[in-house]
Amino acid sequence: MPTKLRIAHLYPDLLNLYADKGNIRVLVQRCRWRGIETEVIPVPSGEEPRLEQYHLVLLGGGSDREQELVAKTLGKNKLEWRQAVHAGLPVLAVCGGYQLLGEYYQLPDGRKVAGLELLDLVTKADGPRLIGNIAIDAGPELGTIVGFENHGGRTRHGHEPLGTVLKGHGNNGRDGKEGVRYQNVIGTYIHGPLLPKNPRLADHMLQLALDYAGIRATLAPLDDAFEMAAHHAFLSRRLDLPTG
Ligand code: GLN
Repeated sequence: MPTKLRIAHLYPDLLNLYADKGNIRVLVQRCRWRGIETEVIPVPSGEEPRLEQYHLVLLGGGSDREQELVAKTLGKNKLEWRQAVHAGLPVLAVCGGYQLLGEYYQLPDGRKVAGLELLDLVTKADGPRLIGNIAIDAGPELGTIVGFENHGGRTRHGHEPLGTVLKGHGNNGRDGKEGVRYQNVIGTYIHGPLLPKNPRLADHMLQLALDYAGIRATLAPLDDAFEMAAHHAFLSRRLDLPTG
């Protein structure tokens, strides 16, 4: 039985457009506060991930150019990805990383960047860019999720969304849905980074990872007053939404 939670950060040299590293820091710190050991494994560009060794995988956002570079390595082991996800590997993918989970991302010039084909999901670039603060209702388990979005891609998929847009654009600016949930995979356009202001989502990912790892540790409640003050300030001051 492992005792350490192994968190892989995929391609931090290319996919770290919106301080996505902050998500890793939040996960590590929330474990540290509870006496749970973690190990972060940065996987540099060009290297294939060793999925069987991780308990949680994070993929961040990147520019179109960086996404194309990452796609070249990612595409090499689609089968391993499929097997790992079906075995329950938790994956958190943000923005460009989210788009890479699907069939393809169609660039503004019409070329297609192949995705991992893990999800029945396609993204097509279009204008104008969908930029701004966003809040979604992610249901009773995850509550409200807040952050910032900036993407040209319009995503459509045949899965459960992560949430319903309260304010902002979401997957495509049209259908009122944001992100995706499939097995233990969560994809979203929300960054800034995502987890510091959304501690419930951070703990949700950690619980999935602990269960997947077979580590028997309970996520004792933390004093999230500071995190929730940021969350509520975002809702009320930036989005003019009620905090209740
Ligand atoms: N290719 C993405 C887009 O739609 C990049 C998004 C991102 O990671 N900011 O713009």
